[in-house]
Amino acid sequence: MVYLAEPEHLGDLLPNEPNYRADQLTEWLYRHPVLDASAMTNLPTSVRESIGPDLWPFHLAVDQVGDGGATRKWLFSCHDGSQIETVLMGYPSRTTLCISSQVGCAMGCTFCATGQFGFDRHLAAGEIVAQVAYANAYLASTPLPRSPERITNVVFMGMGEPLANYKHTRESIRRMIEVMGMSARSITVSTVGFVPGMRKLIEEPWPVNLAVSLHSTIPSERTRLVPINDRYPIDDVVDAAFEYYAAKGRRVSLEWTLIAGANDSDEEAIGLARIARKIHAHVNVIALNPTPLSTDRPPDRDHVRRFIATLAREGANVTLRDTRGQDIDAACGQLRLRNTRTQGKNPLSRSVSAQRTVELP
Ligand code: SAH
Ligand code: SF4
Repeated sequence: MVYLAEPEHLGDLLPNEPNYRADQLTEWLYRHPVLDASAMTNLPTSVRESIGPDLWPFHLAVDQVGDGGATRKWLFSCHDGSQIETVLMGYPSRTTLCISSQVGCAMGCTFCATGQFGFDRHLAAGEIVAQVAYANAYLASTPLPRSPERITNVVFMGMGEPLANYKHTRESIRRMIEVMGMSARSITVSTVGFVPGMRKLIEEPWPVNLAVSLHSTIPSERTRLVPINDRYPIDDVVDAAFEYYAAKGRRVSLEWTLIAGANDSDEEAIGLARIARKIHAHVNVIALNPTPLSTDRPPDRDHVRRFIATLAREGANVTLRDTRGQDIDAACGQLRLRNTRTQGKNPLSRSVSAQRTVELP
């Protein structure tokens, strides 16, 4: 499987070919990807045929279109049958891809469909970066309406905790920057506050954007929503976020999934604004997208507005994320959930409604 090999070692897969073939293959995999190896026109037929069946480390199992064609949600089946989700979102000035870093997630956040189903395995670097290559190959033949025909931004906001899969996340970022030619500033790593990974990321040469999913400033409530807060408490997470900002000069964003009666009080807004001011962070508020295994619900519209207004009044820089993918299970983990259920393996009987709010970089 070609994406599973390091780009620098692709020659090993072509032992009977001249050295320049590896460079040609790198070009096809990373810089001008194509959906089918038969389109790799400067490679001999024998090479194209041998790569063909192994080109992608997954196949497209479900392709859903939403928002009048501006959002596509894909469910990929990996070679071991694992399923991962990737979301493509077109805007006038950017085309953003939301990618997965793990099959499932071990962090167990109560409001998250991925977390509710636990952890299966890490994705390999090749499986992570192939999501970006696949999207570029797809866009080359079928661009989204009125959006750039290449992925301009990547966000690690699909399934999984990227910093708990550090080695592979790092290698996928390296390939995006050094081999695909993306800028570090167009890549956002989102973390639940996995402090050891945040500290390692500080040491890397690339100034990627860091998003930290905070969700509560009250330790007991944060532990309820985000159980890993027990191991990496909020104060350490905020310190690590500030160190990231100080080291990279990149403003960190604080992600806040707003849940009625849980983290939508004035006290939380004031506490969040205080942290945002202290570490020069930007706040992104997202109304909860309800999931079947939790009774949590988003606050009503007026309450969301009030929370935002309190944040702004307290001096925080805040954005309410735009709604995307309402019609296509766009919350992370939901498409896999629905697909598993329709295959009769899932015990849930309630239907899944999707209204994930995402206005991503
Ligand atoms: N594990 C990482 C990245 C994947 S989750 C993290 O937690 O940051 C990406 C974002 O989606 C996180 O901010 C998470 O809080 C949010 N999210 C998860 N489930 C959600 C839901 N049901 N509704 C709204 N946002 C959700
Ligand atoms: Fe994992 Fe992020 Fe979901 Fe929490 S919100 S369970 S860290 S994917």
